[in-house]
Amino acid sequence: MNLLTQFKESAKNYAAKPAYYFMDQSCTYAELDGAITKFASGLQKLGVKQGDHIALLLGNSPHFVISLYGALRLGVTVIPVNPIYTADEIGYILNNGDVKAVIALDMAIPLAEKMHTYLPKIEHYIFCETVPNSRVESKFESLSGFSKMKSFTEVVASGELTFMGPELKDDDTAIILYTSGTTGKPKGAMLTHKNLYSNAKDVSEYLKMNSDDRVVTVLPMFHVFCLTVALNAPLLSGATLLIAPKFSPKEIFELINEYQATVFAGVPTMYNFLFQNPDGKTEDLKSLRLCISGGASLPVALLKNFEQKFNVVVSEGYGLSEASPVTCFNPLDRPRKPGSIGTSILRVENKIFNELGEEAPAGEVGELVVRGPNVMKGYYQMPEETAAAIRNGWLHTGDLARMDEDGYFYIVDRKKDLILVGGYNVYPREVEEVIYNHSDVVEVAVLGVPDPNLGEAVKAYVVSKNPELTAEQLIKYCSQHLAKYKNPSSIEFIEELPKNTTGKILRRALKVQVAQNVSK
Ligand code: AMP
Repeated sequence: MNLLTQFKESAKNYAAKPAYYFMDQSCTYAELDGAITKFASGLQKLGVKQGDHIALLLGNSPHFVISLYGALRLGVTVIPVNPIYTADEIGYILNNGDVKAVIALDMAIPLAEKMHTYLPKIEHYIFCETVPNSRVESKFESLSGFSKMKSFTEVVASGELTFMGPELKDDDTAIILYTSGTTGKPKGAMLTHKNLYSNAKDVSEYLKMNSDDRVVTVLPMFHVFCLTVALNAPLLSGATLLIAPKFSPKEIFELINEYQATVFAGVPTMYNFLFQNPDGKTEDLKSLRLCISGGASLPVALLKNFEQKFNVVVSEGYGLSEASPVTCFNPLDRPRKPGSIGTSILRVENKIFNELGEEAPAGEVGELVVRGPNVMKGYYQMPEETAAAIRNGWLHTGDLARMDEDGYFYIVDRKKDLILVGGYNVYPREVEEVIYNHSDVVEVAVLGVPDPNLGEAVKAYVVSKNPELTAEQLIKYCSQHLAKYKNPSSIEFIEELPKNTTGKILRRALKVQVAQNVSK
């Protein structure tokens, strides 16, 4: 079994059911299956073949779903790319990923014109029309010797419904995900058909997804959290996707209400925005049976406030691109532990290793390592980085964590974010949890800053909703809850914290921002 064969089952069993709603459009499973088949066949007619690499530069849309499943059905490796990256960032990925064809919104035509000159390996551009006739307007067509540009509609129209597609092997690379990369250039995590299928299946079983579910798909589709949890798992379960092109609290409340959504998947900042939004009322989320949080730690105060305000259950999970991504989730049929990422999902093993690479006993902090059918094949053309990440069969996550006696895991922090104050370890997350508890605080990020005596000191950057709140008051508040060495020695109030497009707060970007301000 793989995503494609399992999707065919859904298409057979739920042919007349809506597979997705998007703006005012709806599409049944049978129609979606037809569009995917025709797109795969159309791609083949263009000259794209099994083993080629194709990049998707698309936001959340049906085009994304059809391109992804269509390309996979043809045995093509898909590279989803954040469409709002700069030309340099996109160029790096397309070049490094040996991309032969690009599927993008027509708005990216000017970008393609630029890229065409320095990315000669790209043979085909397929544009999805957002503006009628935009393609015709483009100078792109006049570029000498370049005729391989098509519209998405043309490709689908040229395909045949009888297309069968080649046999797909479990170990073939299905997608390459360029991870944000903690240091240096992004690395392409190669996820196989087996990786993607096993994780989507595990997640759908663990979260009891079924054909009655209507899942809000608002996380970016190019990110693996969305791909597995809010796209693949629901489609394998016969559920309906409620595709939202962007996150806006008001529109999310409306979408949930209008379609009586049952599952919402988001990152903590989305929960924070929904919670803080003055329009949000308890009834707005009453159709939801489950809210899923992942991608970053969900502050316990936010989890409790959110659940209380909206009368819903929020279950936190954990994952990373290299593990397709999910490794842990809070169970639905056993007690859930706030602050924890839950227990290992069905076929995945999680352990804590100490610095000697040995398994640490319950309660001890060490590196979280993962083994299972969801762990990537490796980084594309980076054998050294692959060997550093996967050692003795265990994927080393770079996250510090501990496990309790009941097998629940707690992320303590990223290894690299650890702050050393006079030789003591301070985990920024622990300090952030305390500050989040203060009722005036909207968001916070904690960093280590140089200190002449202690090496590093703790500094908190806070977004406050009360202009009267002072740094002294907040420091005093922290001192009631934290050991002295963990207490922030300074607090700076700022307007906004830097976040990536998934909504994760970027401590490292904040560090750069702070350093730049200092040097000005
Ligand atoms: P990415 O590969 O972009 O999905 O990022 C993976 C990283 O996100 C992990 O290595 C963790 O550092 C972080 N992460 C994901 N889920 C959680 C969570 N529930 N709690 C804390 N950190 C998380």
